[in-house]
Amino acid sequence: MAYQGNFPIEAKLKTFLALDPALFIDGRRIAGDASARLPVYDPATGLELTQIIDADASDVDRAVRSAHAAFEDGRWRNLRPTDRERILLRLAELIDENAEALAQLETLDQGKSIHMSRIFASGASAQWTRYIAGLTTKITGRTMELSLPPSPANWTAYTRREPIGVVAGIAPWNFPMMIALWKVIPALAAGCSIVLKPSEVTPLAGLWLAELATEAGIPDGVFNVVTGVGSVSGSALVSHPLVRKITFTGSTATGKAIGRVAMDNLVPVSLELGGKNPALVLKDVDVEAVASGLVIAGFFNQGQVCAAASRLYVEAPVYDAVVGALEAAIKGMSIGAGLDPTTQVNPLVSKAHQDKVSRYVADARAKGADILEGVAAPDSEGYYVSPSLILNPSNDMDLARQEVFGPVVNVTKIDSVEEGIALANDIELGLTASVWTQNLSQAMNITRCLDAGTVWVNSHNFIDPNMPFGGMKQSGLGRDFGVDWLDAFTEVKSVCISH
Ligand code: NAD
Repeated sequence: MAYQGNFPIEAKLKTFLALDPALFIDGRRIAGDASARLPVYDPATGLELTQIIDADASDVDRAVRSAHAAFEDGRWRNLRPTDRERILLRLAELIDENAEALAQLETLDQGKSIHMSRIFASGASAQWTRYIAGLTTKITGRTMELSLPPSPANWTAYTRREPIGVVAGIAPWNFPMMIALWKVIPALAAGCSIVLKPSEVTPLAGLWLAELATEAGIPDGVFNVVTGVGSVSGSALVSHPLVRKITFTGSTATGKAIGRVAMDNLVPVSLELGGKNPALVLKDVDVEAVASGLVIAGFFNQGQVCAAASRLYVEAPVYDAVVGALEAAIKGMSIGAGLDPTTQVNPLVSKAHQDKVSRYVADARAKGADILEGVAAPDSEGYYVSPSLILNPSNDMDLARQEVFGPVVNVTKIDSVEEGIALANDIELGLTASVWTQNLSQAMNITRCLDAGTVWVNSHNFIDPNMPFGGMKQSGLGRDFGVDWLDAFTEVKSVCISH
């Protein structure tokens, strides 16, 4: 299938999109057993970009067995840490070398602005890979003094951290390249093998990543990719008896279902789930500066960001000014295809998601919501939704408390900081939060009161590989990133020697 869009794209991306559908198993593209195919659409036009394989349980079994064989014979985990690090650093270089094609792929597959794709799908992805590559050489155990043996001087005890085995990595569709990396690279750095299942809506970055990894020197079978719908290939993968660890990023509902499977098989699982994240705006702020920060916090990637600020609580004295500045900003943006560098508002990822987000807004409208709409969606087959502010939503509106995951931001007037903290915490999700104020002492006190895995002051959404990230309450289990990231991909073995 040939690319049919209006924007020029890199020749190697054109070639990639024209390839026959394939899984990536044992170091190469293969057709697999499943006969079913799924279309992949360009969100800006609704046109088919290419097709993928809708893998079945037998394809998944083949991928897991390939990963298991590679783990068992030690072709990767028995390399010196510096050699694994060198290969992962080479992968980061290949991401840089293919940066523009990867950015264009991200925009074509997911819809986001090409500027954002350059930042996240290639720039930050290469940096994330470098950070994790550095952890490869920092895996350590501990020595322990023992109390119970009769003659402690003649005993030595220590721990080893050993790679856990075959990892199942399940990724969502909002940052296809970067989140695929968050599954794959820590597993590889720890010495594990992995089978990645990208979202069926944005499956292409994971397939390209596997090819780059092979080119970088990752041995065959260590990194495999199966594509297809979650209820079939995803489900077969997480329940496979040879899988020893599950790392999942996606919705809370799917995360809970996977968590139950993990407990049935006694497999450790990390769950990075949804958010409905508050931002508290205090009355001392510089309104213009805060409004431009909040536009990024709420509308970046059309609000399809787990960490996005989608509930703003604004102190009464600055409420009207903040709403006015936000409305002016979303009305003044230009809307269009992500590959058009002049646009700031781009399509949502899929027709199904466009319908879902539109239903939330229609439900609020039917219940009498005060809605301020930004730039109008174009009359197009693309999956556009106008950005909007919902003023003081009532709790009977679904969007008041549920994650919309779209360009829809609630703004609520508050009479005190205490009221804002209570409203911010009055929800079962707890991924991120932010406080906007020039009063450092108040900011420090509020950060301690908010139920969220990450709290920013005077910013929102800024993540870093060295800063642990994950959710409280229904937003997840475990933390990604940070110097301890590889712990979740290792088993601790105690060794006790009498001598
Ligand atoms: P989703 O839960 O629908 O799907 C995520 C992945 O799970 C997909 O690959 C899907 O095919 C797969 N899947 C679905 N059912 C499965 C099953 N039964 N077994 C195994 N795999 C299955 O989520 P989505 O719509 O792709 O992504 C959006 C969600 O992801 C939002 O809730 C967002 O907040 C969340 N998210 C969280 C983070 C974080 O770091 N906390 C980051 C990005 C996105």
